[in-house]
Amino acid sequence: MRLILLGAPGVGKGTQARKIALEFNIPHVSTGDILRAEISSQSILGRKAEEFVHTGKLVPDEIVLQMIKEEFKTDKFKAGFLMDGFPRTLEQAENFSKLLKELNLNINKVINISIDENEIIRRITNRIVCKDCEKVFKLSDFEEDENLKCDFCGSELYKRKDDSEEVIKNRLEVYKAQTEPLVEFYKNQGLLENVDGLGTENEIFERILARL
Ligand code: ADP
Repeated sequence: MRLILLGAPGVGKGTQARKIALEFNIPHVSTGDILRAEISSQSILGRKAEEFVHTGKLVPDEIVLQMIKEEFKTDKFKAGFLMDGFPRTLEQAENFSKLLKELNLNINKVINISIDENEIIRRITNRIVCKDCEKVFKLSDFEEDENLKCDFCGSELYKRKDDSEEVIKNRLEVYKAQTEPLVEFYKNQGLLENVDGLGTENEIFERILARL
């Protein structure tokens, strides 16, 4: 199964991506997770990406494309993959199609998750994530003096720097201008499946599975 997940920030892509990857036993490639890990280790790539990620801008295409080409050098993607947060621009999508062609691979489906903008802002301002496994939690599920710890790996939970209300608005604008055109791009290739992102995690997961 070779899949791409599309959708604005906060629609639940990361959460669904983890569930899908587990269900089909395929690698989950999240460019956001890779970039955050590079930033936290202050690698050369991380230092180049830091300013863009923290202000909600896209990291330049050539940096992200280089990252993906490196990833796809290993054989683990032959049996399948799930892309989360990539491609994010037409330039990235076109280059990704080229790369897959060279590797003799095709995409089976592109799942586009959508919800309305107010719900997105509500969700993102309420979210905290695990600093190690990136599992997402709701701040409102914790008591005020409760320890913010991940129930999966035990690590600390933190608020992403780009999850402030100001930066979110910027990220939504960037999404509309640069990523939304990909919906049409994949629709024209007959690959697109639209999924309503409003509901419980499991309801949305079932909707996705029904389209695969
Ligand atoms: P979200 O989907 O919630 O915006 P991500 O974790 O996918 O979060 O991305 C966080 C940030 O990482 C983006 O705002 C952007 O700065 C950077 N980023 C992630 N993927 C890409 C990409 N494919 N191209 C450019 N920048 C990216």
